[in-house]
Parts: sequence; structure tokens; C-alpha cells
Amino acid sequence: MAPSKTDAEPHPMVEVPEAIRRVLETTAKTILSSTVADSQHDVVASNASPSELLGRFLAEDVLMREPGYPPYRASIMDGYAIRCQDRQNNNNDSGNWTHQVSGRVHAGPSSSTKEALSNSNCQLELPSAVYVTTGARIPDTYDCVVPIEEINESPDQSHIAIAKPATITPNEHIRNVGCDIPAGCIVLPQGSCIHPVSLGLLQQSGQPEVKLVKKTRVGVLSTGNELLLSPESWSSQTSTANGGLIQTGQIPDVNKPILLSLLQSLGNNTIQTIDLGMERDDNIESMAQTLEKALATCDVILTTGGISMGETDIVEDVLVRRLGGTLHFGRLNMKPGKPTTFVSIPKGTGSPTPCLVFALPGNPVSATVCTHLLVRPALDMFRQYKAHSIALSLTSSAIQEMVQNTFVPPELVATLTHDIKLDMERPEYHRVTLDVKHVNGNAMEYTATSTGVQRSSRLMSLRDAQGLLVIPRGTIQEPKVLAGQQYLVLLLEQSRYNLPVRVKDSRHLNAYNADDKHSPPTRVAITQLSENESDYPLMSQQELSECVAKALICSRADSVEVCRCESIVGDWKAVQKPLSFDKPDEVDVWVVACSGSFTYSLKVSQMLRQQVGKVADALALQARLGAAAQDGMASLYEPVVGLLTNRQFDNTDREVDSCLLIALPLIGLTGGLDNVRGLLKHAVNVSRGEPHKHQL
Ligand code: AMP
Ligand code: MG
Repeated sequence: MAPSKTDAEPHPMVEVPEAIRRVLETTAKTILSSTVADSQHDVVASNASPSELLGRFLAEDVLMREPGYPPYRASIMDGYAIRCQDRQNNNNDSGNWTHQVSGRVHAGPSSSTKEALSNSNCQLELPSAVYVTTGARIPDTYDCVVPIEEINESPDQSHIAIAKPATITPNEHIRNVGCDIPAGCIVLPQGSCIHPVSLGLLQQSGQPEVKLVKKTRVGVLSTGNELLLSPESWSSQTSTANGGLIQTGQIPDVNKPILLSLLQSLGNNTIQTIDLGMERDDNIESMAQTLEKALATCDVILTTGGISMGETDIVEDVLVRRLGGTLHFGRLNMKPGKPTTFVSIPKGTGSPTPCLVFALPGNPVSATVCTHLLVRPALDMFRQYKAHSIALSLTSSAIQEMVQNTFVPPELVATLTHDIKLDMERPEYHRVTLDVKHVNGNAMEYTATSTGVQRSSRLMSLRDAQGLLVIPRGTIQEPKVLAGQQYLVLLLEQSRYNLPVRVKDSRHLNAYNADDKHSPPTRVAITQLSENESDYPLMSQQELSECVAKALICSRADSVEVCRCESIVGDWKAVQKPLSFDKPDEVDVWVVACSGSFTYSLKVSQMLRQQVGKVADALALQARLGAAAQDGMASLYEPVVGLLTNRQFDNTDREVDSCLLIALPLIGLTGGLDNVRGLLKHAVNVSRGEPHKHQL
């Protein structure tokens, strides 16, 4: 019998955000330690099918080949190619024919092209002209094209007169060789992702093949003696009366098809999945051999089953004791997915790059949820950084930079439609469906509804799920969360309502950040401006305060104190005086929400911009995008973000900026604030006098 895990001390319970950080730090080190030998590329024909190329990353610049694009002098118009010189010598525009037509050239390799070229060398009474279509190759020695609209043709098309007495200059209506893309120019840079337009540029470049970053190879292994070897055996046995399965206690392997296809869809063509088959849980030797072989060919391995505390749970033994893996965590404080284990194992091929192994629990819901939470960000990091790993060195700042910029499941805050009983031991990632409604004009509010019984074997709880509602462990005082309360939801798929979320902006991940624990409340002043109360209704002060506070809270440790909230109605001259905010040091953030005509909002923006000492246009752009996502009309407004100039110098001679101004249209207020939330926090720290770690 295999060594049992039950005798061992259970691993310490790790919070999910901490586990995600450990996964990402280990992944970053793995990517950075990859050598040139590891990072071989694939050479693929440039005309390979789009499905082979799209989404992949270039391992090398694609350069424009000689002679550039277009490869020949091409006509931009349908018309007549002439020589400018002839036109200038012949200024007779009085209706007589000015040119004799010596040939007709259509776009493409037509025989008429040759005819035209030979004819044009014959002796003609008048200067020669050649009829050309758009895209046709201009015969040599001709240097401009007169559009057909500016030409009179003889009935037999043998002669023409240029109708429009305009001067014609050389190269008019001609695309010269290489004028769109000069030879030698970088058409697609190394590290960029191939999208539909890239496919066109690749063709124009004239390169027969491209070097692509190798796909991340992800192996999937199912373990468990109860798993049927093939899906067919399930259908044949279930159709048997008193079927064999009931006797043998077997079930179909559902983790394999779910995980293989989930990885494919998450990877967007950057993942090569490898089916590692199925292993029994009573044969350590066989499992160790299969995994040892897989280490050499996989960058990442997912196993399912056999990782809990039972006597057949042998996977950790194999990974750590037999294969020499380093255990990064062995238990998670979450439901479902508690036994999830993460190990990195040397490949045994002499490569310094280890293989990352996620040993997931066997229950299909746990395996799928943990793939979303832990594996998905790691694969995103491979996707983003594999192409650049050679240029980066293995330093802690490079690792942190990579971790901070990795995408995690998008997040939103949703209101519960009903009470949910909490688990008294662990926080829960509860499967929910979402609904959206518009409130306060156009702001969107989401509601979350449970998908029913959340048992981790009940795959039906994932069938319609759109997100994972993050709810805390229950206590005797608070055994349930209530209808109407709001909680964070991690989306299982990218939705059109949500922007992608990076680690640095994630509320889920920053909620447990130790740095946040003791931060003082963010002090906020809110000014609501309206040109005309009846045309542009104001929000109540309470509504406004709640909406701003909610949008500014990054993590559970954050708190927002609204120090003042005022509404000013009047034309832009009337708001000029009250807008000069004279005591900015009392607050950290001053939010101005503006509603009115386009001219009014522009005037307000201009006035505010003058007050700002340090303008943060990058933040303003983010705010504008967020506002526009909430309401398209909000994109007309020019948001203003920056630090107010009324600053002091403390006794260390450091500059202390006193207040961060953020002015947005009322119709895009929540969206705008939401989109800069993570960055605002940094800006507030700067305004409190903390050293500038990054430029705004
Ligand atoms: P384990 O993690 O091995 O303790 O398994 C937990 C539960 O998940 C058990 O009821 C298993 O039968 C079930 N299970 C394990 N692997 C799979 C799989 N690949 N497909 C479906 N169910 C599985
Ligand atoms: Mg098992």
C-alpha cells in the first residue's frame, strides 16, 4: 500500500490571493530562467492558415523584403498614364486631341501590358498615353496618371485630350515602389501578437516564413482507480440493465475534457495541450514514470485527483518525494479546492527551467474553479512574457513587474438577489449567474444569483455560472450574507462590460495585501456641478457619496471618508469662483462631477486644468475610457486628473502635493473612477508625501 498522507501534518492553509502571488512569482522566475535553448521557436509558413497563426507571438522582427511595397509603380486611379514633360510641351487645351493612346494596361499580369510597352516605343504623331486601371503597373518612362474623369476620349479611344487645364506634376496618382512600406522596414516587431491585420502585412512583407514563440506546453493527467478508461465504456455499461458500473463503482473522467478545452480557449492559440492519459492511484511507480517523462516535454502540468488526505492520495508523494519537487503550497483557504497543491520540479534534462505542476482536487468543480483562479493567470504570464524573457534578467524588480502586470479574471461588484448561507470554515468562491440593469441614468448595476447547491462534485453548479462570488467565512454573528449586500465577483469569461484586470488593479488580490492593512481612510471632497438643474438632474448627496466611496475602495482594508459633498448649479462663470478649491490639504482626493452642455463641460475642464500643478494625462485617459464604457456620451468630456499646486514642503524638503483632483462627467462617473481605482491609490499615497515610486 502506498505511503499515506493521513499521518502527515496537514500543510498550512494559504489564502487564495497569497497563493496566486506565489504561483505568479514562481512562474516569473521560471520564465526568466529559461535559456536560449529552452526558448526555441517554431518556423511557420507566412501563408499558413489563419487558425495556425492568429494569436501567436513573433520570435523575430518581420522585415519588408526588397524592393518594398508596392513592388512596382502602381496607378492609384483609373485613367491615362502620360509623361509630364509631354503635357507641359503641349498646352493646347482647346479641344484638339493632346495624346495618342498607345496601349491599355489592366491591373494584373495581362498581355496588354506588353503590347502597351512595345507600342509606346513606336513613332506617333502625338505624345503617347497608356490607359491604366487602378492598381495597374505603370509602364516605364511614364511618370503620372490623369484620372479618367479629367479626360475626353475620341469615340474609338485612339486619342485623348486632357480636359482639365490643371498643371500635372510628376508622380501624381502613382504609388511608387516601397512608398507604403520601404524595404528593410520592420513590418511586425518581435514580441508582437499576430492579429488579422498582421496576416495581411505578413503577406505584403514578402517573407516566406516567420519565426514564432513556441506554444506553452500544458499536460493534463487524470488520476483515480474509479475512472473509466474510455468514454465508450460508460455508454455501453449504462445501457446494460443493472449495469456493470453500479457494481464496479466507476465513473467517466470529466476533468480531462473540461481542462483540455478550457486551456485551449484561455490560451488563444498560445497553448499546446498534451493529454497525459490516466493513472491509477495504487501504483506510485507507474505515476512517477509517467510524470517524469512529462516533465521533459511540458512547461506546465495539471493533475487531478489524489491530493487530499486519504490513503490513496499519492500525488504529492510522487511530485515531492519521488520527483524532487519544491512545494509552494499544499492547502488553500477556500471552498471548493482546499487540497490544491502547487509544486515546481526540475525537468531533469539539465535545463534550469523547472516544470510547474498544479495538483488539483479530483472533484470537477474544484479542478475547474482552481484552474480559473490559479492556472489561468500563470498561463497569461507565459503568453505575455515568453517572447521577452531573453531581454529580461532575473531580478526581483523584473519579477514584481511581471506579477503586477499579469491579467487575472475580470472583476465586478454585484448585489445579491437573495441570502446565502456561509461556510463556517472557509471563504467560498460561490458560482453565480449575473444580471445587469441600468440605474442613475446609465450606471450599470449587477446582480448575482447562486447556481444552487455548491457541492464540489455538482458540475451542474458550473453549467450556467458566469462568475465566482467571493464571500467570507461565516461566523456565529454573521452566518450568512444577505440579499441587497454587495460582493466581488470574479468573471469566468471576459464580458463586454468589463475591462481586463491586472494583478496591480485587482481588488481580489489586493484585499489581503499586508501593505494595505493600516492605511488611513482616503479623505474625499465631492463637488457636483450642473449648468442647469432642470435639464441635468443632480444626484442626491448621499447617492453621490456612496457611489464615489464604492468606486474608490480597492481592498477590504480601504476606507473612504467623504469630508464634504456640495452641489453647485449655474453657468460656467457662476461656478468659476466656488471651483477654486482653497484648502486642498484637508482632503486626499477631490472629485468633481460635471453635467451640462458640451461647451459648459469644456469650460469647466479648462478652468480646472489651470488649477492643477501636475497633470496626470495618462490617468485622465484611463478615466475617459472607463467613463465612455459606462456611457458613450461621456467620451465627449475632457476628464482632468492631476495634483493640485497648493503644496507644502515638509522638513525633509520633500515636495508634498496636497490633493489629487479628478474631474469627470456625472454620466460616466462610476466607470471613470472604476477604471483608475488602482492607480488612484498610488496617486493618493504620493499626495500624502510618500516618495514618488513611479511617475504618474
Ligand atoms: P480525489 O480528489 O481523488 O479525492 O477525488 C475527489 C472526488 O472527485 C471523488 O469522488 C472522485 O471520484 C472524483 N474524481 C476524481 N477524478 C475525477 C475525474 N477525472 N472526473 C470526475 N470525477 C473525478
Ligand atoms: Mg481519489
